[in-house]
Amino acid sequence: MDLPDLKSDCMNCAALCCVSLVLDKGKMFAIDKEAGRPCPNLGGHLCTIHDDLKDRGFQGCINYECAGAGQRVTQMRFNGESWRDAPELLPAMMRDFANLRPLHERMTMLVAAEKYPLTDELEQMRQKMLRKLARSWADTPQMSADFDAFLEKLRPIAQT
Ligand code: SF4
Repeated sequence: MDLPDLKSDCMNCAALCCVSLVLDKGKMFAIDKEAGRPCPNLGGHLCTIHDDLKDRGFQGCINYECAGAGQRVTQMRFNGESWRDAPELLPAMMRDFANLRPLHERMTMLVAAEKYPLTDELEQMRQKMLRKLARSWADTPQMSADFDAFLEKLRPIAQT
């Protein structure tokens, strides 16, 4: 099945996590930052303290994974353009990133579910959802309900 890349590729992303996410000062982040403000540690599209994140108090950045949503929004929705050069793009980039990341997380879980001994019905559900998620840019109530129903059926299999 032709799925999008489900791992972050920061070199092809416009640092969407580092600009769009809220940081709350505490154990995970050394600073407070509101959504839409570039992190002060960001240089261009890359983190200037990447090799030192833990010691500088940014364990949350190490833990974070966009599941490939960042580069897909940047490349597929905005043709590689960036809010750095065109600040007016930022609200739409943030919106699309927020919409797409949960879908990519869901696809990651569905790919991982392949390792379980799924019934034919569950395998068909899994593949159908993957196909639908791969061509979607935002969640729908039906997609969300289908995913919840799949997880409900998967749980007893995953626990054995
Ligand atoms: S510390 Fe680095 S990785 Fe974390 S938000 Fe800032 S620029 Fe991004």
